[in-house]
Amino acid sequence: MPHKIAIVGSGPSGCYLAQALGKACDDATIDLIDRLPVPYGLVRYGVAPDHQGTKAVIRQFARLFEREGVGFIGNLRIGDPSTGADLSLEELRSLYDVVVLATGLSADRRLGIPGEDLSGVYRSGPLTRHWNDHPDEAGLVPALGPKVVIVGNGNVAIDILRLLAKEAPEFAGSDLAETHVARLSDRPITSIDIIGRSAPAEAKFDPVMVRELGKLASVRFRIEDLPPETEDEDKRLAVLRGLQGVGNADASRTITFRFGWVPTRIEGEQAARAIRLQRPDGADTLELACDSVVTAIGFADDASMDRERLLIDALDAEAGVAAPGLYLAGWFKRGPRGTIPDNRADAQALAKRIAADLAAAPTAGDKPGADALRTRFAHITDYAGWLRIDAAETRDLPADRCRRKFTSVEDMLAVARERPETR
Ligand SMILES: Cc1cc2nc3c(=O)[nH]c(=O)nc-3n(C[C@H](O)[C@H](O)[C@H](O)COP(=O)(O)OP(=O)(O)OC[C@H]3O[C@@H](n4cnc5c(N)ncnc54)[C@H](O)[C@@H]3O)c2cc1C
Repeated sequence: MPHKIAIVGSGPSGCYLAQALGKACDDATIDLIDRLPVPYGLVRYGVAPDHQGTKAVIRQFARLFEREGVGFIGNLRIGDPSTGADLSLEELRSLYDVVVLATGLSADRRLGIPGEDLSGVYRSGPLTRHWNDHPDEAGLVPALGPKVVIVGNGNVAIDILRLLAKEAPEFAGSDLAETHVARLSDRPITSIDIIGRSAPAEAKFDPVMVRELGKLASVRFRIEDLPPETEDEDKRLAVLRGLQGVGNADASRTITFRFGWVPTRIEGEQAARAIRLQRPDGADTLELACDSVVTAIGFADDASMDRERLLIDALDAEAGVAAPGLYLAGWFKRGPRGTIPDNRADAQALAKRIAADLAAAPTAGDKPGADALRTRFAHITDYAGWLRIDAAETRDLPADRCRRKFTSVEDMLAVARERPETR
């Protein structure tokens, strides 16, 4: 009997792991389980709607289900049932020989300063999920602008900056919903300040992401806090210097990069009206008037899986071995670092480890796996259901849109469950 392997989370790390396990384990059936009826995690719900080239990696992941026999079990949440999960981790482990947690990290890190819960302060996770039509954020109605401050210097901060700085026609070819485009245009943004704690050469963003900003139609750039130019300049510095002064005087908005500032307070009674900054050594302070603040300073555990305890008790946390038969992968294992391809090498190493562990301690191979889940949970969905959702989302679109996503799980389920002959 083949070993039954369940990977919880169908984001990039789950998909890369399924791919690598297919090669490393001769005799295993692999199921990717997700709490949503749609696969691919942050590729669908994090990667910016105007970066369709990056999202195209799902074509590679689709081969898992279409050619490599991996199962997709959607609409099944694993975790503590008292928090609304369908099935506990312990119960899932009793059904599979191997369980891997690849559930990502969806909570935002907090600034830890007064004022960060004022209205007008937004976190990158809800905002980027909202623009990607994640059902969890359907109720969010962001009212950003006219003066926006973004705190953070990673790629997510740059994504947010770019989306806020684009004019409506610049979203052609994206899957940003018309309602989001309209809302972004409703209250035109006139200035965006982006604040980094470190010096420009140490900023976390990828220089390519900043270079792309130079293509924006109607912005002008100011880059503050740049050190004097040197001959063998770091790529980040060179790219930033290249943006200095770019844009014309009648551009609709000004983008200002500021480096080496630590936010100390967001001012306001009910709503944010200014942010106070300080040099790390306390030498200088600055107050920027603003209407909205967006924090993009990294991600953390949403506490639904007791990740901290799993890591503390792990047999080998670095290798992702939590306990016999229980493994950790992707952002859930190593923290919120790394791009989509970075999850691949990790997945390959973990697959080898799982294959070696299975070979060293062969199990009876009599676990019921997905059959038990299908019997117990009538609400779970499969890959054919996702294909129906995918087809419905990409049918009858205006020429300048590539997808119109469902924003509620109920709507997704209604389509996923349609019988093929009723179409
Ligand atoms: C806003 C944003 C934009 C990004 N843009 C890019 C980019 O342009 N290019 C790039 O290379 N990288 C980008 N990244 C990084 C990239 O998305 C990550 O490296 C990658 O998604 C991590 O993969 P993962 O599988 O560990 O987690 P995730 O992609 O988060 O996948 C986790 C999956 O687990 C599921 N899940 C969660 N909890 C449960 C549960 N209890 N039960 C069942 N299922 C569950 C979720 O629904 C999800 O499908 C971005 C990240 C963010 C946050």
